Amino acid sequence: MAHNFDLVIIGGGILGTSLSYFLSHLNKSKTIAVIEQAKEVAFHTSGRNTGKVHAPYLYNPEKKKMFAKAALHGYEMWRKYSELKNLPFKEDGVIEVSRDKKGTKVLEKYLKWGKQNGLLEDQIELVSKTDLKKSEPEIKCDAALCVYKDASTDYSILTKSLMEDSLQNGIKFLLGTKATNIKNKNGKWKITLNHEHEIFSDFIINAAGGESIDIAHSMDVARNLTDVHFRGEYWKAPKEYYNLTKRSVYSVPEFPDYPFLDPHWIIRVDGTCEIGPNAVPVFSPYGYKKSENLKEFVPKMLEMLGSGARKAIFDKQFQELAINEIQSSMSKSAMIDRVKSFLPKIEADKITEKGTAGIRSSVINEHGKFVPDVVLVDEDTSFHILNYNSPGATGALPFSVNIINQLNEKGLFRNEKEDGKCGPWVFSEIIEKMSG
Ligand SMILES: Cc1cc2nc3c(=O)[nH]c(=O)nc-3n(C[C@H](O)[C@H](O)[C@H](O)COP(=O)(O)OP(=O)(O)OC[C@H]3O[C@@H](n4cnc5c(N)ncnc54)[C@H](O)[C@@H]3O)c2cc1C
Repeated sequence: MAHNFDLVIIGGGILGTSLSYFLSHLNKSKTIAVIEQAKEVAFHTSGRNTGKVHAPYLYNPEKKKMFAKAALHGYEMWRKYSELKNLPFKEDGVIEVSRDKKGTKVLEKYLKWGKQNGLLEDQIELVSKTDLKKSEPEIKCDAALCVYKDASTDYSILTKSLMEDSLQNGIKFLLGTKATNIKNKNGKWKITLNHEHEIFSDFIINAAGGESIDIAHSMDVARNLTDVHFRGEYWKAPKEYYNLTKRSVYSVPEFPDYPFLDPHWIIRVDGTCEIGPNAVPVFSPYGYKKSENLKEFVPKMLEMLGSGARKAIFDKQFQELAINEIQSSMSKSAMIDRVKSFLPKIEADKITEKGTAGIRSSVINEHGKFVPDVVLVDEDTSFHILNYNSPGATGALPFSVNIINQLNEKGLFRNEKEDGKCGPWVFSEIIEKMSG
């Protein structure tokens, strides 16, 4: 193994792998490694999500501008990439329903946001319950937002394909390798791997998902921020429910100020159906099991009590929401009932198999508030991507291009290719779209 790299990316999720994909096309003379502690890429959140390629209607164009733009252009990019590589991508659309008049007002707002974020007139439409009944007779609602530009995929497969392309272009992937210590030594980063080996790098990109805040702290960055982890659980629906609806169904969230939605009715790209995810507070970004949460309980509680998260956990509305979510984890019917409210045919007794849970890590600032957008911390020899949450998988490709452009502008990773071609795209054309 080479011990010296120009750049090390920590994290082989969809973000770290997308960054490696573009860098592998543009910076052939640089030595670049991606470090991933799991045995494969997309093992954590990137391979444990709902698999939707989201249209940007849920995102406030003022507060989540970057995510909204990345989702809009990410959709086209994943479509093109999947077509080229023959990977799963189904343009199946999605429905967002309201259960009362108050919820319908929220749908009106989403319609406006969707259009402001670039959706065209024929890609999004608000319909009455009577109109929806004609195509979706099983759905009970007050009104529905039909979003035609929304798709389903398998992000695990897409990430693995990006890794293969990056490998062919000379990027090294160190899988099963955890960055256990990072120190700056004489202007270079000394990274200890699995507590034993050492490698050196001139520059680090921190794309470590649920561990990105910890990595930033260990490099003395973003000390004012902390994070809270939420486990999103799913239940698999039996075959007899596969034709209940033609499209996946989301509902207007009960607590719109928090960074997650209510459980949805999901039609996955392979045609199977699931209910989820909820958002149960846990104590580790890998807190899928009780044992991991017990191990991390004390250190995480101490960290939260000594930071802005203290205010969040003592907030009454947050406590109400947390109790609600914990209930939906402990009782299957508590979770299923949330979906039953708009799909009354569903019977909790018929649902017996759990799906694969995924964990999101939401950043909290020093005032105890959830940070709505991604946080980018640009240091001299490191770059940190924090709070990279939904629709992070949808937007990973154009978002990565934006990050690389920012680093290029600092003179770090000069675009070495005149035509700027990266697979089926031209780098400058993506930048133009993202800044337009
Ligand atoms: C329940 C759920 C549903 C979602 N649904 C959708 C959806 O339908 N559509 C959508 O667009 N988005 C969705 N998202 C969001 C999306 O999945 C994430 O935004 C995206 O996967 C984040 O990618 P990432 O690469 O930043 O993080 P990750 O996938 O978590 O990758 C980070 C990687 O870093 C590695 N790592 C961390 N620390 C170290 C270390 N010290 N050494 C080595 N490796 C390390 C981890 O092992 C991990 O593999 C969902 C998220 C959740 C939780």
